[in-house]
Amino acid sequence: MADTKPHLNLAFIGHVDHGKSTTVGRLMFETGAVDPHVIDEYKKEAASKGKATFEFAWVMDSLKEERERGVTIDIAHHRFDTAKYYFTVVDCPGHRDFVKNMITGASQADAAVLIVAVPDGVMAQTKEHVFLSRTLGVNQLVVAMNKIDATTPPYDEKRYNEVKEEVGKLLKMVGYKVDDIPFIPLSGLMGDNLAKASTNTPWYKGPTLLEALNNLKVPDKPTNLPLRVPVQDVYTISGVGTVPVGRVETGVMRKNDKIVFQPANVTGEVKSIEMHHEEVPEAFPGDNIGWNVRGVSKKDIRRGDVCGSVEKPPTVAKEFKAQIVVLQHPSAISAGYTPVFHCHTAQIACTLTAILAKLDPRSGAVKEENPAFIKAGDAAIIMVTPSKPMVIEPVKEIPQLGRFAIRDMGTTVAAGMCMSVVP
Ligand code: GDP
Repeated sequence: MADTKPHLNLAFIGHVDHGKSTTVGRLMFETGAVDPHVIDEYKKEAASKGKATFEFAWVMDSLKEERERGVTIDIAHHRFDTAKYYFTVVDCPGHRDFVKNMITGASQADAAVLIVAVPDGVMAQTKEHVFLSRTLGVNQLVVAMNKIDATTPPYDEKRYNEVKEEVGKLLKMVGYKVDDIPFIPLSGLMGDNLAKASTNTPWYKGPTLLEALNNLKVPDKPTNLPLRVPVQDVYTISGVGTVPVGRVETGVMRKNDKIVFQPANVTGEVKSIEMHHEEVPEAFPGDNIGWNVRGVSKKDIRRGDVCGSVEKPPTVAKEFKAQIVVLQHPSAISAGYTPVFHCHTAQIACTLTAILAKLDPRSGAVKEENPAFIKAGDAAIIMVTPSKPMVIEPVKEIPQLGRFAIRDMGTTVAAGMCMSVVP
């Protein structure tokens, strides 16, 4: 049964036109996630438009169109399963809310497939997406060295090795352990090494893309970190009392635990925990829960507060240091800029009080100290002052509470992570 398999969220990243849609389309086809009848329809449509070959990108393009029209896509369209896992394909960087969804956890990717077209090699968005996935905490990667059929000569091992080295350098620079990452010479279009080992690449002995996906690991649940449950909402239920709801990010919550909400600085005790309308004795990372607290009234706490253990309470920042990547901004960002920071369930206006350094977006090395401004494509170290006390923690201590998106005028301007906190 498909739904008894463990589930992983998978992102496809890489430069435009390097073959993300084609590869996803073909994966869904090969794994039987796309109805053959639907494929026939696409083929007919392709023929009617004078296209000689059927391209799998059409499958994804039509999904893109649906998404742009605002149609809710049947989630099944975005899923496929392998022998071991059930995969959901999460949005790609470049789509409107990708970064925000990744940071707020709505679509946190457990792994990413980096697609690099071998004829082209590393391009601007390859670098951008690699840096972004590192910033967003995607720890597992598979590199699909795509369009191996389109090298000159086709299936060229020499060109493959050149690009492999180039990609390897990039991954190493941002901090990935390259030795653990499979590189696969692939043709998303022709199907080489996707579901079956290709006879066109006799020089390659590694896994197919499907095998590499099967070899991914289910990330460990961060149960050994201190308890953190960002509050999504707070209810008062008559006869029960105050019931905040939210998702456990780290640690374990147990009945009778002493807890504290920050920055409200209100303490209480867990009277009961409910998940899927059933009472449970304890809750783990990933669980969406409602928990009844003794000693706390609804007016004391609100969305954006974080419930934590009293022994290790959530960190409240009056100021913090962060590393950011500027994704899009029409002009330049300088000190004094006050956009909204989206961090766990909090949305708080924060002022960039200083830009300490501009970084090389690939290596993180300092390019310029105290720059007057930063622009789209830049990475930087900044100092931030929230307009009111805010829970944010250094990513080194609690990654789940250290990431944020910067939003302004309806778009995601930047993604970042907290390096240290000035209490
Ligand atoms: P995306 O922008 O990364 O989603 O790229 P697409 O999947 O839309 O592919 C861009 C173009 O490259 C399309 O014309 C595809 O047919 C072509 N393409 C994708 N994968 C391959 C491949 O493995 N080999 C060849 N020869 N062409 C490919």
